Amino acid sequence: MSAQTPYDLLIIGGGVNGTGIARDAAGRGLKILLVEKDDLAQHTSSASTKLIHGGLRYLEYYEFRLVREALQERELLLNLAPHIIHPLKFVLPHRNAVRPAWMIRAGLFLYDHLACHPKLPNAQQIALQKSPYGQPLRSDIKKGFTYSDCAVDDSRLTVLNAKGARDKGADIRTQTTLLKAERKDDLWEATIQDNKTKTESTVQAKAVVNAAGPWVAEILKDLQIQSSMNVRLVKGSHIVVKKLFDGPQAYILQNADKRIVFAIPYHDEFTLIGTTDISWDQSPDALPNIDQDETKYLCESINNYFNKNITPEDVIWDYSGVRPLYDDASSNASAVTRDYHLDLNQTAGKAPLLSIFGGKITTYRRLAEHSMEQLAPFFQYNRKAWTASEPLPGGNITNGDFKLFYTNFRKSVPFLDDLTAQRMAHAYGTDALEVLNKATSKEDLGTDFGHGLTQREIDYLIEKEWATTADDILWRRTKLGLYFSKDEFQAVQNYLTEKLQ
Ligand SMILES: Cc1cc2nc3c(=O)[nH]c(=O)nc-3n(C[C@H](O)[C@H](O)[C@H](O)COP(=O)(O)OP(=O)(O)OC[C@H]3O[C@@H](n4cnc5c(N)ncnc54)[C@H](O)[C@@H]3O)c2cc1C
Repeated sequence: MSAQTPYDLLIIGGGVNGTGIARDAAGRGLKILLVEKDDLAQHTSSASTKLIHGGLRYLEYYEFRLVREALQERELLLNLAPHIIHPLKFVLPHRNAVRPAWMIRAGLFLYDHLACHPKLPNAQQIALQKSPYGQPLRSDIKKGFTYSDCAVDDSRLTVLNAKGARDKGADIRTQTTLLKAERKDDLWEATIQDNKTKTESTVQAKAVVNAAGPWVAEILKDLQIQSSMNVRLVKGSHIVVKKLFDGPQAYILQNADKRIVFAIPYHDEFTLIGTTDISWDQSPDALPNIDQDETKYLCESINNYFNKNITPEDVIWDYSGVRPLYDDASSNASAVTRDYHLDLNQTAGKAPLLSIFGGKITTYRRLAEHSMEQLAPFFQYNRKAWTASEPLPGGNITNGDFKLFYTNFRKSVPFLDDLTAQRMAHAYGTDALEVLNKATSKEDLGTDFGHGLTQREIDYLIEKEWATTADDILWRRTKLGLYFSKDEFQAVQNYLTEKLQ
């Protein structure tokens, strides 16, 4: 598209919200340009607890709208992306001192009944001493509950939305920063910069969507637009340790400060533990890191419940992100609403700007639909809301039956080892064969960079998934970074540098 032809929407931000809006809008026939200054999902959208959940704890803050919508989305998304989303059973060990049992029972009853969930079992009370779920827990914890939610690969969810948007005609540009934009009557004129070549160009768009997550307020400031809404930045960190317990179940631990911490099975060999809630008063450009107190807090949460104790020395990997929450003036960072708010800035005859405040990975699809409703007066869509029924790329698995899909896929790729076959089936779903590009032997896949990552897969990630660095591949398109040594990491980076030159 030439610089002279205006886009319908210029979307700022390649997190889950920006890419979700891009896919929805492109599917309705709009011409889309999405700019992301770094990699897709490089910021908050790869730093989550990786749950598609209603958010049991939000019931305590009477967030019934949010919880209901999130529970409905959980069921939908499970069908739309059964390769990257899977059901997860949670065990809630009970400690009366934190919350009485009747309160938990009431909360779980509501959680089960706010939305129907034919694919997930109802909550139950369990005697932990008699249950295998109780085995890794301290013997003084006798009672517990189980309930269901889902786990998601958050960065892949974002990438799949970007792919889905591109399949419908959207222009997705990573490593591209919005530098400035101004209204020229009914159009926005924006200057964007390609960060690899440092070249600037001008584009025009009929509307701008500010989906810049933690940068939402900075963008408004740059555009000299006042909003009645504010963003509240809250840092959250996670640690990953060697597997703490056997079995596919996760644990939700109630701490004395009333916060909760999850312990979730992660990539076969690990346990993911998080998160924290710390007010973030710095600029979003000051990238967040876990601090010692957070690591200590997460270790203590585990040690209060599990037989096996952990210390900061056990941490294999950690990550931190900043939640761009809608500021509802709560004094406590944990209590700030996780619901989203959309701010439409518009004056007659002038091009509109829609800014996104808050949200969850879980609700990104509904947030995109609501954004399209807000923008409807300015465009003629060629289609109604559609994303509730069309699977994400790779998600068109018959009846959402991942097990059956995997059995068939496994038979068609006897030359892959089990771990790689499983990883690829989960990451790419029905697109996994496209990644392998008709390979019939290991040799067909080119250089093996270790742990099942081959030249063929890297080439695919460069060509089809906007990967440009080893970090993009090892921490966001896959989580193979958990296994790669420094030298192996460098070999991947060298290959990319050479290839991209
Ligand atoms: C610790 C933690 C745990 C969480 N756990 C969960 C969970 O388990 N389940 C759940 O549903 N939600 C969870 N969330 C919430 C969820 O992660 C966020 O709501 C969501 O990722 C926000 O996505 P976003 O697209 O708004 O922001 P981001 O992912 O941050 O995307 C915004 C993008 O805009 C880009 N950008 C900014 N300025 C510019 C510019 N000038 N030009 C171009 N690009 C620009 C940035 O580079 C960034 O990539 C969690 C969040 C955190 C921090």
